[in-house]
Amino acid sequence: MTQIFDLSGRVAIVTGGNGGIGLGMAEALVGAGCAVSIWGRNREKTEAAVSRLKATGGQVEGRTCDVTDPASIEAAFAATLAALGRVDGFFANAGVTGESKGPFVDRDFGEWQRLMTANVEGVARGFQLAARHMVARAKAGDPFGRLVATSSVASIEGAAYNEHYGASKGALNAFVRAIAVELARHGITANTILPGWIETDMTARALADEKFVKAVSPRIPVRRFGTPADFGGMAVFLMSRSSSYMTGQTLVIDGGYSIF
Ligand code: NDP
Repeated sequence: MTQIFDLSGRVAIVTGGNGGIGLGMAEALVGAGCAVSIWGRNREKTEAAVSRLKATGGQVEGRTCDVTDPASIEAAFAATLAALGRVDGFFANAGVTGESKGPFVDRDFGEWQRLMTANVEGVARGFQLAARHMVARAKAGDPFGRLVATSSVASIEGAAYNEHYGASKGALNAFVRAIAVELARHGITANTILPGWIETDMTARALADEKFVKAVSPRIPVRRFGTPADFGGMAVFLMSRSSSYMTGQTLVIDGGYSIF
């Protein structure tokens, strides 16, 4: 039987791939035979993740990159392309949440700017480099590309006290839908993944708070918080040819949190 999820010969970049959800996606991509470049700000964390994935026998490399710095993204993209020869998929997963959560009426707009830069512009700049490369390849007779952004259920729920984060992820959904329309004719799809409450560094503080856990848990029908491994299968599907007819979508992975 043809292996519909065999990613041999494919190359993907996963930003924020050195931990959390990004590492969960990178691990599954590598397992399906995809060569993966994981990008993160923290060099040691990135090197540790590369070693871990290499130990599974996969083709993996790491790049130190800050997605809020355009020169850093350009350098990382050029280095990845030089090392791996092509880029078929770009998983823009790196993101940050509000440091100052609390009433909107007290919000400092510097915080808004920080989130919009990292969560929207940082994704758009990476996607632009990837799309230029993918469109050029399509014009040369090889039409295939996958753009995947990690958004959040905060983009579709009322993310009270974290409205700047919700706004940045909502903007991301709209941006991805727009480029999905533009790029489809080149064989490039663009989709967003919307995680619910997932156990990672980002949520560690909230999930260590007993009162918070008690309040949120009953809202999750599958009765557990998510883990990075819950994102592996979706990443492989999106990277494969099997997802060719799906674009511009927001794919919710939240244990049913947003429907309850
Ligand atoms: P983590 O904090 O574990 O991971 C965040 C990742 O993003 C890290 O790898 C980090 O790298 C990277 N990163 C952050 N800022 C930058 C930057 N400026 N440049 C490059 N890399 C950066 O959190 P998650 O795994 O939970 O988050 C992954 C994505 O999932 C984010 O976009 C987040 O908004 C989204 N999400 C998470 C949810 C959850 O419940 N955990 C829910 C909904 C959405 P480094 O450590 O090297 O800085």
